[in-house]
Amino acid sequence: SGRQLPPYFLLLQCDSKENFLFHRRSDVLMMTPWFAPIVWEGTYNSEILNEQFRRRNVTVGLTVFAIKKYTVFLNKFLETAETYFMVGHRVNYYIFTDRPEEVPKVPLKEGRNVVVLQVQNYPRWQEISMRRMELINSFSQQRFINEVSYLVCVDVDMRFNDQVGVEILSNLFGTLHPHFYAAERQSFTYERRPASQAYVPRDEGDFYYAGGFFGGTVMEVYKLTKKCHEAMMVDKAKGIEAIWQDESYLNKYFVYYKPTKILSPEYLWDDDLGRPEILKKIRFLALPKNHAAIRNK
Ligand code: UDP
Ligand code: MN
Repeated sequence: SGRQLPPYFLLLQCDSKENFLFHRRSDVLMMTPWFAPIVWEGTYNSEILNEQFRRRNVTVGLTVFAIKKYTVFLNKFLETAETYFMVGHRVNYYIFTDRPEEVPKVPLKEGRNVVVLQVQNYPRWQEISMRRMELINSFSQQRFINEVSYLVCVDVDMRFNDQVGVEILSNLFGTLHPHFYAAERQSFTYERRPASQAYVPRDEGDFYYAGGFFGGTVMEVYKLTKKCHEAMMVDKAKGIEAIWQDESYLNKYFVYYKPTKILSPEYLWDDDLGRPEILKKIRFLALPKNHAAIRNK
């Protein structure tokens, strides 16, 4: 008879869905060349992960901006977050707004809080979007560091549509942009003007990340937002604004400070792109909006 294999090997060989070590997909990239997992449905075990994070009694901060007319998105955003975001864990919603009176009172489950942070607005939507980096940065130092372990920073014109749990958490994470997850480097819409701080040369860059979903530990988000805000200020002084605003600076950052985990486009989807077979879950979904009507005034 042959050599005896250790039980662990037998488990790896066993091709059964019931096997707790069988979590893999052959149709998607599951890991980057720098050993960061890429999170797709079917590649992880949420029972194991939930237990690990519950044991640490982790609190997660979800930052969202609702400036001017964007307060209309808050109700659906918060309601669906209560159903799908970090269920069973402690959550602080940090809502940055210039209209605190328009923040809806949404019933919250135990261990979950809404914190309204009043901030100024800016006339241009581009500036509102970009200033998020500055504000997340300054509140990280003043407040978030004392209240939460991780920050998740997202757009508000969205609804949760399926589970978004602790599988996303890591030191530093970004999300594959739904338009580019299957695209080649040449087509990524990085800032291509060398004069900009967001410039990425043609032969660099791994993925194109979405501006609307990133995060990490408070310390890592502090460092990311500091670098991005400083880069924006250097550009601003020269009269430059990167092609996709904050998303461009975020993409530049991730070229040189690589994320330790990457979220698949399940975590930021847009139904304009249909629903390809590769998506087993659509967890966070862009809402259609009338840009002209909502971005001004
Ligand atoms: N935003 C806001 N008020 C504005 C414009 C933007 O609160 O007038 C915030 C909001 O959180 C929004 C984010 O900035 O989700 C990014 O802008 P937007 O969603 O319009 O960009 P898009 O996803 O269309 O690129
Ligand atoms: Mn958006």
